[in-house]
Parts: sequence; structure tokens; C-alpha cells
Amino acid sequence: TKWVYSFGDGKAEGRASDRDLLGGKGANLAEMCSLGLPVPPGFTISAEACAHYYANGRTYAADLEGQVDAALEEVGRIAGRRFGDPQRPLLVSVRSGSRASMPGMMDTVLNLGLNDETVEALAAESGDARFAYDSYRRFIQMYSDVVMGLDHDVFEEILAEEKARRGYDVDTEFSGDEWREIVGLYKARIREELGEPFPQDPNAQLWGAIGAVFSSWMNARAVTYRRLHDIPESWGTAVNVQAMVFGNMGEDSATGVAFTRNPSTGEKRLYGEFLVNAQGEDVVAGIRTPQSLTEAARLETGSDKPSLEKVLPEAFAAFVKIAEKLEAHYRDMQDLEFTIERGKLWMLQTRTGKRTTKAALRIAVDMADEGLITREEAVCRIEPASLDQLLHPTIDPDAKRDVIGMGLPASPGAATGEVVFSSEEAEEMKAHGASVILVRVETSPEDIHGMHAAEGILTTRGGMTSHAAVVARGMGKPCVSGAGTLRVDYRAGTMTSMGRTFKKGDVITIDGSTGQVLAGAVPMLQPALSGAFSTLMEWADAARRMKVRANAETPADARTARSFGAEGIGLCRTEHMFFDDDRILVMREMVLADTLEQRQAALAKLLPMQRADFIELFEIMSGMPVTIRLLDPPLHEFLPKTEAEIAEVAAAMGVDANRLRERTEELHEVNPMLGHRGCRLAISYPEIAEMQARAIFEAAAEAARKTGAPVVPEIMVPLVGMAAELDFVKARIDAVATEVLSAGGAEIDYMVGTMIELPRAALHAGEIAGSAEFFSFGTNDLTQTTFGISRDDAPSFLETYRKKGIIEKDPFVSIDVDGVGTLIRLAVEKGRAARNGIKLGICGEHGGDPDSILFCEEVGLDYVSCSPFRVPIARLAAAQAAC
Ligand code: PEP
Ligand code: MG
Repeated sequence: TKWVYSFGDGKAEGRASDRDLLGGKGANLAEMCSLGLPVPPGFTISAEACAHYYANGRTYAADLEGQVDAALEEVGRIAGRRFGDPQRPLLVSVRSGSRASMPGMMDTVLNLGLNDETVEALAAESGDARFAYDSYRRFIQMYSDVVMGLDHDVFEEILAEEKARRGYDVDTEFSGDEWREIVGLYKARIREELGEPFPQDPNAQLWGAIGAVFSSWMNARAVTYRRLHDIPESWGTAVNVQAMVFGNMGEDSATGVAFTRNPSTGEKRLYGEFLVNAQGEDVVAGIRTPQSLTEAARLETGSDKPSLEKVLPEAFAAFVKIAEKLEAHYRDMQDLEFTIERGKLWMLQTRTGKRTTKAALRIAVDMADEGLITREEAVCRIEPASLDQLLHPTIDPDAKRDVIGMGLPASPGAATGEVVFSSEEAEEMKAHGASVILVRVETSPEDIHGMHAAEGILTTRGGMTSHAAVVARGMGKPCVSGAGTLRVDYRAGTMTSMGRTFKKGDVITIDGSTGQVLAGAVPMLQPALSGAFSTLMEWADAARRMKVRANAETPADARTARSFGAEGIGLCRTEHMFFDDDRILVMREMVLADTLEQRQAALAKLLPMQRADFIELFEIMSGMPVTIRLLDPPLHEFLPKTEAEIAEVAAAMGVDANRLRERTEELHEVNPMLGHRGCRLAISYPEIAEMQARAIFEAAAEAARKTGAPVVPEIMVPLVGMAAELDFVKARIDAVATEVLSAGGAEIDYMVGTMIELPRAALHAGEIAGSAEFFSFGTNDLTQTTFGISRDDAPSFLETYRKKGIIEKDPFVSIDVDGVGTLIRLAVEKGRAARNGIKLGICGEHGGDPDSILFCEEVGLDYVSCSPFRVPIARLAAAQAAC
């Protein structure tokens, strides 16, 4: 088997597309070499060799050693040196490099091949003993740390002592002889700590380093990183061995890093730093302040240290050319590493540069405008979920995080505020000008005002589709839900976490994009929608097939949705329109009504509210489709809980409080999510559906009159499992339409459809399509009922499932293609067969999840609907799905 791939002297055995085999670093070194760029010669041991190593009890393939020796010979030949040669020693760097860039693995050992003998050769050759011994001691430090597992603090200690003893401030004050002495101290210390000497044999050093790279693939940090980023263990890492070039050979030597464009703004300008007379790790280590590459950047930062452009103009000019060439070659912004040895430029790495979302947008749009990539490619280069960063304040990535708990990233964005434990406190403190975070075990409709007042919401129970999560997303407020490690004690007024206690008024920060809960205030970055954002979104709109609508009930949400480009409302949850304080009372009157008269009295109060709401929604969405769902209140969210609440409702209804308490108890359900909700309510009490239908029709007529644009409401019946349920409710809706029309209303165009959110509905979608003019997949309930997993209780065990490898992703976040997806496919097929051109959409939380949107495109839905703040994400994801 071929395990080793050489590069150097303008030739290479590998190429950029060999990433899987050679890792990103190795593949790009080979590519740069073939492009004729100055790359120190070297070779890459393939990731397959690593896989072989693990498959065979951590032993090397028998033919590996021979291949390494031969490749090393060749490197020496090109460099005019020999590994271990006492006169002209070849020194090498050893670096790991996997398919995906992966922090947590062993990174680099430099100057390998130095020992007590070769260091003298290096000193003689360079005429600089200080340089030679400085290189040697760096090698010992690095090698002992990453290969022998000796903490580098040991060496820092020695260094500090030696500096103090001589009264030096900085390392550069040591002479060659002094470094030689320090090397002696280092070696003695290693023997003392490890009971073995520092290896003098270059071959032993090399194999030690190769083994360390392979082993680092399995270290705890790398394993965790892979788990978090879905990187398979089977990939393995490659090892890059490359002839050393020295950036620390004096004032005409340097080392640096650069991006071909600014990675935080995207501006098209070479961006980077370098240090004169330094070796690779110095730039990153931050011991000395690096200098700007360009004179322009130096002037901007006001630095008095000269730029590379000034210090080493020829090398700089060569570098600029190479940077341009690499960017054009890879057709993307590159992240480069280089070293200048005595005026001569060497390229050590190129890779696609990491960037902020803001920069990613600008770079994609600029590159398309420059003709480097197509608009479609530009659209496909932006991670849809990353747009969140632009739409909400986010925690400054450089900020220190004091994490006190972890929950689900229920609604994106970050918020800081004083802890409060009730919605009343939230409102009160907000009224006094405070910013607050509402901390609850879970939230219910009574908390809406508190949620409004709060900057963010934190719950210790509940999943991604819990009340808190859904409502917060709708409001565009950050929310962390189900933070199970936090304990809230309402009575004591405290929240405890890992032995720390937080009281009302203590400041915390929540990060709804990661689920983190942090102590104190943390610096934030504010959202900024750049011109590139709207340009890219236009391109995305041109590329997508599916429409994107929003789940919205309030005028504010509807306006937000439109401003983010929603093309209508896909779900108006009417029960959410009664969450406000003054309205929840009327809603309770209706829910608790004992008789038809009582219910009608409550409905009569609700009708004008609903009508006014709908008129406003229709006006805001002028000309666009609006899907209004009939009431679907899980009863437990609406029943009064406290005595005071019961008394209040009793007074409003003019009934005895005791009787009302009894009624509340009668209505209590063991399993409200599967209880008297959805169309079941409309079948028990048709007058509720009739009131809503009337409100919709009257509002449609009124809005059409006001705006001059036709309004075609789509009335949606929830939780249908049987065609007969829909038929029953539809008959009532149609009857009201006729009535409103005959009462002198205008001609009303409307559609009646249903949610498909129960397995039975999917199985019988054909019959249901007999009455349904559209289907909207309610994947929250469909997931709940397909799995038989309560959407509110799921977090307590789904995380365990994920950790134990039972599931890969939370099915409430990303659609379960195999199970729920099969039901959707079936319903789509049956629905279409029964009704040609039936309109199909999705309105569960999955409608804003990029992976789920890809699935929706595959099955050919007409639209996705999601919370307003996810509309841009959905637009982009829909475009990528269509590409
Ligand atoms: C659903 O079940 O997917 C849905 C959109 O309805 P709700 O979340 O209101 O139950
Ligand atoms: Mg539902």
C-alpha cells in the first residue's frame, strides 16, 4: 500500500482534491507545490495509515517505515541535506492535518532533528549560536510537551528563574552560551520528571512525533470536538513532515499569517500579521505584538512598527502575488501561513479561511460580482443558520464566558438582565427601567406579559416546542429552555447552579443560540444587516422554488415577518391571540362555560376582538395568503390556576366561585396535549368555530374594502385525524360563509384546509383531501404522536438518547426523515392523488430548520412557514435545497 505522498521542487504526488486521503493541510501543500509556489519539500503520511494504525492495535503498517525513509531521503536531496547528518542536518516540522480542520489534535513540532550534535552544525552554518540554541530549546519544549506529555510550565519556570537571575526582561536577551546552559537545565529536568532522557536520535524523534500525531486523534479534546461536529472517527488524521525553514534567522527573516480578505468584515484587502525574526508559534502565542502586513493597515492602526511592505518589500511583493494566485485558484478567501528565511519567501499553508457571517456574505457577493464564482455558488456558500448572527445581538466571540448552566438553544440571540422569577416582577422592574431575564420552571399563557417585558427567557423544563420556546421565537426574544441543571426555588426566590446561588436582581446572560447560561453581563455584538445581506437574499429568492411564509399572530410579528421577506402567513395560532392579560380572562370564560348561553356570552365578547385582529393581519399582509387556524388550545395552558384567578373569572362570568372551581376540576385533563384540543373543541362546541369563521369573513370583506386588494383567507382546522371531523367543521364554516354573504357581505373567496399532524391523518390523507383544499404539516404534533414522545417532556431523556447514540438529532428540531418523513411523503402522495394541485405546506417548527427544509423541497411542498426571525434562514435554505 502507498502510505506516503511526497511534494517538493514543483512536483507533488497529491493534489487539493485528495483531502480525504492527505488531510486539508497535506492536500493543499501538494497543490501549492504543483502550482509552482515556493513550498519547502516534504511528504504526507496518509490518513489511511492512521486508520490502519488504529485497526491494528496501534501499530504501524509493515511497509510504512521504508516509505518514510525513502521520502525523507528525497526531501534531503531537494534541500541538499540529510536527516541526522552532523554537518548538514535536515530539520523538519511535523504537523497533524485531518480532512476537517480540527482543533484539539496535536498541532506542530518544529525543528525536529536537532540534538547535541546537529545543533552545533546549525550554529556553524548560520554563524549564529544564539539562533541555533534558541531553536533547540524551542524544539525540546514543544517535543516534551506534545510527544512526551511534560507540561510546558516546567520550562517556563526554568526560563523565568534564569531571566530573574540575570536581570533580563525578555527572552531575546539570552546569548547563545546562555541558551546552551538552559538547554542543559531542560534536559536534566526532563530526566528528573520522566525518568528518561530527551531522545537524541533524530529517527526516534521522528517516530515519536508521528505516533503523537496519530494518538492525538483519540485524545479527549479531539473526541469531544468530533462528537460536537459530527466528524466520524474513521477518518483519521494525516501527518505532514516538511523541511524546516527559519523565520528566526535574523532581521531579514520573518513569519506571518494572512487572510486574502478581511475575515471579520469581508473587505477585499490583504489582512494579516507578521513578526520579524520569529518562528511560527510566536505570532499566535501573542508574546510579542505582531506588525501589519501592509503599509495601509499600519497607518490605520496607528502602529509605529513598520509593515512587511516596508521591511522586506521584495518578499512582500512576492507574497501579494501568491495570495492573489491562491485566491483565484481556490475561488475562495484563503488563510495563509508563510515564513521568510533570509529574504526568501516560503509558503507553509493555505486553506479556506474561516469568517464571520457578515464577512461571508460580503465575500460571496463580491466574488460573484468579480465573476470568480456564480450567484448560485454565492448563495450556496452561506450557512443558513449562521444568518441568526445578523438578526439578533450575539455574544462577542472574544468575551469571557462564565457558564453556569446549559439548556436548549430555544430562540436565538443573547440577552443580559436581572433575574426575576415571575412575570409580575418582570413587568414591574421593566417599568422601573431595568432589563430583566424571566426565569421560570416553565411558562404558560399567563406569562406572556412577563415575556414581553423581559429581554430573554430561561426555563428549567420544556423542549424546543414548549410554550416558552414557541412564544419566544415568535417574539424574536432569546430563550434557553429546559436548563435542567439549574434549580429554581420560587419560594426562596433563588436559582442555584453548581453550588452557586442567584437571587432576584442578580445579573445573568443567556445565549439562545447555544443554550448557555452565563453569570454576569457579557459584551455583545449588535445586528447589522449589510447591503450584501439583501443582495444575497435577492439571489436566494431568485433561486428557490418553495415559498416562505411566517407563523405569526400579532401585528408586530406580522410586520417583522414581512420585513424579513415572508410571503404570507402560514400559521396564525388564534389561541395565541388571547394570551394578553385582558383577553385571557374572556378566553377563560369561554373555556369554562358550563352552558351554551355562557359560552355564547363569552364568544360575543371575543368576536369583535378577533375581527379587529384579522383585519389588521390582512392589511399588513395585503395581497398575500394568510392561513388562520381555528382555536387549538391545550386546556392546561388556559385554565385558571390560583384562587385569585378563579375568583376573577367567576366575577366576570357572574357565577359562583365554588362552582367554577368544580368546573375547572372537571376540565382537568391527565394528558392535555392529547386531550380536548384542536377540532375536537369545534366538534363539541361548533359555536366557537362559527364565531371564528364569522370574524374571518367579516374581516376579509372589510380589509378588501380598505386595501382594495382581494383577501383570500385560508381557514385551517387543527388536529384532524378522520375525514369526518373535517367534514363536520367545514360544513359549519361554509354555512357561516353563506350567512355572512346573504347578510349583504361581499363575495367571499376562501379556502378550507387542515393540518396533518396526526399519523391517522397522514394514513387517510386521501379521504381528508376530499374536503381539504390544502394540507399544512404540523410536524410538532406529528413528531410527538409518531414517536409517542411528549413534546414538552422530551428534553429530560432525548439528550440521554443522543449521548448514547440512539438518536443523532432532536426530532423536534430536525425532521425525522425515516419515520415522520415517511408519513409526510405518504400524505403528499395520497393528497395529490385525491385532489389535483392540492396546496401543501409545513408550519411546525421544522419549517425553519435548514435540513428539514431540504426534505420539504424533496417531497415538493409549496411552502414552508416558520417564526418571523427564521424567515431569512428559510429563504436561503430553500434556495440551497433547490440548487
Ligand atoms: C404543530 O403541531 O406542528 C403545529 C404547528 O401546531 P402547534 O405547535 O400549535 O401544536
Ligand atoms: Mg399542533
